[in-house]
Amino acid sequence: MVFNFSVILKHVALCLVCLIGDKLSDAVEKPPLLRACIDNCTHVLIGLIASEIFLNGSTYNTAKHEYLLLLCEAAVVSSLIDLDHFIEARSFRLQDATNLDRRPFLHNSVFCILIFLLLIIVKPFGTSNFRLSTAVAFIAFSTHHMRDATRRGIWIKSPFQDDSSRPIPYVGYLVFTNILPHVMTILVRSRRLEAVKDQFMELV
Ligand SMILES: [Zn+2]
Repeated sequence: MVFNFSVILKHVALCLVCLIGDKLSDAVEKPPLLRACIDNCTHVLIGLIASEIFLNGSTYNTAKHEYLLLLCEAAVVSSLIDLDHFIEARSFRLQDATNLDRRPFLHNSVFCILIFLLLIIVKPFGTSNFRLSTAVAFIAFSTHHMRDATRRGIWIKSPFQDDSSRPIPYVGYLVFTNILPHVMTILVRSRRLEAVKDQFMELV
């Protein structure tokens, strides 16, 4: 893990986006469309910066257009997760989408677990681009879920349970969001992921 000046600057930008985005989302109540745009842009910027830190730290030789495609993936996934509000409401109206009596399906953190397991399983067999894009999807999903969890907790729904945790502390979310790209860099480029996979295979 190399901490040079540009990495530190990216972390400063990441923290500023988190803090300013959340303050603005809280302060701007009307119009609801503006509030939704601020909220969604904050998710996009967090996913983008966190993924950029991850990709920049990875040792894969990624072509420029592939690098840009991965960043697009980070932005699109971070943003489109909230489309599930409209799908669940079966309506294009923002008012319906933001007044659901339940949490929409893409906010189920089982998705984060499944993407992480996919990353572990494909590491030895998948191409480098597939590993990177799975890792970027995990970063986009988990940073989005952690930010939402500061208000509504982590939600896990499976055939065996349907529970939400308490809202997570804001500092915990900031620490998670800043550490995650480096953890993913280490996992994706080292043999540790294969060791995690071996341990997982032994358990099942
Ligand atoms: Zn959300």
